[in-house]
Amino acid sequence: MKTVFRKYTFLLAMLIILALLATQIKWIVYSIRFQDKVFEKSVELALNESMTNLTADKPLCNKVKACVECDSIRLKAQLTSTGVWQEIHDAIKSELKSYDIDLEYEMYILENGSDELKKLEAEFDKGLYYSRCMGGILGQTGYQLVVEFPSRTRFFFATAGYMFVGSVILILLLIISLFYLLRIYNRELRIAKHTKELLNNVSHEFKTPLSSIALASNMIRKKRYGTDDEKLGNYAELISKENRKLQNLVESLLRLEAVERNEFDYNRENTTIEDLIKEGASTCEMLLEEKFGQIKYDFQSEGTQVFVDKLHFVNVFVNLLSNAIKYSKRNPDIDIATRIENENLVILVKDNGIGIPAKFQKYIFDKYYRVPTGDVHDAKGFGIGLAYVKQIVEAHNGTISVESTSSEGTVFRIELPVIKAQ
Ligand code: ADP
Repeated sequence: MKTVFRKYTFLLAMLIILALLATQIKWIVYSIRFQDKVFEKSVELALNESMTNLTADKPLCNKVKACVECDSIRLKAQLTSTGVWQEIHDAIKSELKSYDIDLEYEMYILENGSDELKKLEAEFDKGLYYSRCMGGILGQTGYQLVVEFPSRTRFFFATAGYMFVGSVILILLLIISLFYLLRIYNRELRIAKHTKELLNNVSHEFKTPLSSIALASNMIRKKRYGTDDEKLGNYAELISKENRKLQNLVESLLRLEAVERNEFDYNRENTTIEDLIKEGASTCEMLLEEKFGQIKYDFQSEGTQVFVDKLHFVNVFVNLLSNAIKYSKRNPDIDIATRIENENLVILVKDNGIGIPAKFQKYIFDKYYRVPTGDVHDAKGFGIGLAYVKQIVEAHNGTISVESTSSEGTVFRIELPVIKAQ
């Protein structure tokens, strides 16, 4: 998929998610308003029905009347002591229940025109208070029964809050997984691209020795050497040399397979890193001589013990040093330094090669990655060396990083835990 197309698809997905969020919020607000209306209507109906039922209860009405006549000032206390208050409360409660309203409520009996009633009337619109004239029960219209739902607002906010927080969390999770999927997708895409490059590389590397072998064997088959035994010897030598090259290539491919599976056996031992560096350097001696290069050492941590697989670590240095030689247009000037920093052993491998442009640096430890410049492809490789180096260093609880400036050079920095003296 083209990058621009991918970008637009992702943007579209984000827009859809945001639209989803907006729709969700709209629905929540709508549902709160709807619930509010349903609540109001249900309370009104429940109160009407309970007042009708209470009015029909003649003994209760008589008790209420008697209380009002006896002491209209302390009416509530009177009603409570005679048990009427509880009866009214229960009647309203059961009606509210039949409308699925199970909220706590308070009741008051207030005289018309009283200050208290006036104060509450101001709040009636907020849906916290509902009043009904007690005319039916008392036979006179001077009193109001007021019902208050103190937890109503909290109840609505709690319901809406759960819905809102739930939706936001789900949508956030959706966004995070989308980003995560995109990252995985990009990585897979990169690996697929690198694998394709690797296949091109491998077939190219195999082609040259194979055609040389075909040519030399053809010459022998057609007896083109005549009676010249030396020529025959040269053809045989060519075949054997190209065969060795093919063997090396197959070995590299086998190693590549091991890196792919990340299944190395580590035979860790206590050792000083300087010996392994020197061993790696001696393997690269011929390459270095071919390009008239030199290696300088600055070992400040000599004698410090690390616990590593010697063979793999020699390979690590062979890879770093052969890269430092391979990716250099000048005579390679390599500096290797070791020192202790924050109780870790630091190894720096610095070269004066072609450098790695900043935008490619984060990919160089990926499998099959090769910096895409025409020049680099003069140097042979499968883009596996640094992936292997990283695997080995990390398997020993170490880290590797790179700093590089194009056309100036590159520094690889390895940090390894040291063994503390007992
Ligand atoms: P290979 O050398 O087989 O291509 P590596 O994994 O060793 O694979 O390196 C990956 C890429 O990183 C190389 O193709 C090269 O572009 C870049 N690179 C590695 N080391 C250096 C270096 N010392 N100087 C410049 N470029 C480097």
